[in-house]
Amino acid sequence: MSTSLLSHAWGLRGYHLQATDFLDGSTVLRVQARPESCICGRCGSKDVRRAGTVTRRFRGLPIGKKPIGLELPVQRLWCAACGKTRQIHLAFADEKRTYTHGFERYALALSTHMTIQDVARHLGIGWDVIKDIQKRYLHRHFAKPHLKHLQQIAIDEISIGRGHRYLTVVLDLQSGAVVFVGDGKGTAALRPFWRCLRAANARIQAVATDMSPAYILAVQENLPKAVHVFDRFHVMKLFNEQLADLRREVQRSTEKIEHKKLLKGTLWLLLKNPENLDPKSANPSGSKRPCASTSPWPRPTTSRRTCANSGNSPTAPAPNAS
Ligand SMILES: [Zn+2]
Repeated sequence: MSTSLLSHAWGLRGYHLQATDFLDGSTVLRVQARPESCICGRCGSKDVRRAGTVTRRFRGLPIGKKPIGLELPVQRLWCAACGKTRQIHLAFADEKRTYTHGFERYALALSTHMTIQDVARHLGIGWDVIKDIQKRYLHRHFAKPHLKHLQQIAIDEISIGRGHRYLTVVLDLQSGAVVFVGDGKGTAALRPFWRCLRAANARIQAVATDMSPAYILAVQENLPKAVHVFDRFHVMKLFNEQLADLRREVQRSTEKIEHKKLLKGTLWLLLKNPENLDPKSANPSGSKRPCASTSPWPRPTTSRRTCANSGNSPTAPAPNAS
């Protein structure tokens, strides 16, 4: 195998191949660095002394299913400026990693089509190595999102581990990208985000949150010029709860049996959009809820009157509408 193949295939420039071994189904290429002037990999100082070598083995790009190992002595240097002894910087691999950049790129390319477990099995390596490669890639590319052009954002919290831990997530509504994740919930979790936003000089036009007083206060304090929107999910949730409470109250207050029967089983009828109601059906809302069997649905004419009376259906469909 030529030294130029070593350079082009595995990215080892400035090295020459000394031997090739075949061990336990894998191929190990033993290489040696060409003599060169040494500098400290941390500070760049030339005031260094050689302090022996350490043999290291790296995972290189496989040939088909055949694993390739690269073994070489790595020079150690004592740096007068740093006052420490370290290994020299290697151009083909990151510090404290046992795989080359080429292997890392290959694993990431496979990860776009396969699960972590599948990639690990294909490359004959532990899943934690693939996980580490993915995490480092995400950290390199997304740890510091650009906030300068952020215009419309959404803020919400998620619970992790059965509600024992919360994270506050900020989303760019135009790109769909997560631009911030804060530990905890409430205003405290958002403080680092406001600092980053001010540093980036972003001009936020609109913010969507739930109706939590903490978020309302935080948006008023930090984005006073932005339009504050309560997101549809939380508005609908609140509306549904209010409607359920109202029905229960009416149910309790009415004394006539026929009125109680009329109310029973009409929740989904009231919640459904008027244009989706089917007046010809015995079940006008088309609901598959079991309440229809225990409580007969009102006749279509009664149903429409119920919607109109509730004030929930100003645009109730014509009788022949589907
Ligand atoms: Zn140094």
